[in-house]
Amino acid sequence: MIEVKFILYLCLSLLLIGFVLSVLYSFTDKNSNSAQKRIEKLLPGINCGQCGYLGCQAYASALANHEAQANLCKPAGADVAKQLSELTGSSLESGQDYEEQLFTPRTVAYIHDEKCTGCGKCKRKCPVDAISGVLKQAHVVDPKECIGCDECVATCPEKCIEMIRQDHTLEHFNWNIHSVQIKSGN
Ligand code: SF4
Ligand code: SF4
Ligand code: SF4
Repeated sequence: MIEVKFILYLCLSLLLIGFVLSVLYSFTDKNSNSAQKRIEKLLPGINCGQCGYLGCQAYASALANHEAQANLCKPAGADVAKQLSELTGSSLESGQDYEEQLFTPRTVAYIHDEKCTGCGKCKRKCPVDAISGVLKQAHVVDPKECIGCDECVATCPEKCIEMIRQDHTLEHFNWNIHSVQIKSGN
């Protein structure tokens, strides 16, 4: 009789432990799924594989499970890297210029046409024919052609050429870097 009771208690205990474990598992699973969903929403969804994972979903899953760094998705850019680091608990190194790391800094010449006399000196100096214009009329720089060599600036007698920072575009995204630097933990 005692043996039967013992077996009964044992079975009940095992059932109870199994129930508790399954509740705990479903709770953690739900949490990691919702974290993954939030991460996925931040990623570009282009599945390019540059992060080293088989698409955005796989990377999001690795991030949600704290198995990947938050800075591996280059197409997403610096802002998303920051948001991912906050979501996954890693911190950004202070003073780090993430835009500079992700995009090759680029400046192009810009002519302030109200001062330009159309002398043509800059046009003759430009090694890539990025400047157009006819004599005695304001000249203009094609920012797509300009290589930022700076040669035209000193040539201009009117001092009306300025090197300006070009807005970031994917055309001059720095494809050669591995990642931006984010240190984990705080
Ligand atoms: S690098 Fe970014 S966009 Fe490309 S697959 Fe990875 S997460 Fe997706
Ligand atoms: S910076 Fe160089 S490439 Fe650009 S317009 Fe001036 S001379 Fe031409
Ligand atoms: S050198 Fe200066 S003034 Fe002459 S065309 Fe070029 S921008 Fe205009």
